[in-house]
Amino acid sequence: MSKRKNRIYLIKRLPMGDDFLAICLFGMIFAVRPLNDVELNHERIHAAQQRELLYIPFFLWYVVEWLVLCVKYRDRLKAYYHIRFEQEAYRHQKDLSYLNHRHHYRYQQ
Ligand SMILES: [Zn+2]
Repeated sequence: MSKRKNRIYLIKRLPMGDDFLAICLFGMIFAVRPLNDVELNHERIHAAQQRELLYIPFFLWYVVEWLVLCVKYRDRLKAYYHIRFEQEAYRHQKDLSYLNHRHHYRYQQ
């Protein structure tokens, strides 16, 4: 695992609803229950994506891409799974050393 640490906060509920377990914002991870290694790795991949896009552009890109995909798929959950940042995180979340050998801007296809 990468040495970079992310603070984890347990909260009761996430603003996106019950389909979601955790969110990473500005390097902090908010979760409704303790995360296993794979779930934590997923959120840490988002932390790396956010850092390299300097945070605010990441969130703008994320939301705009999600909205475009919502129109395309007419399904907000399917749209979510097709966001490039989610695709990278889901594809590599089981590789717990991924962040040690990840290339920058890896989500660009
Ligand atoms: Zn994700």
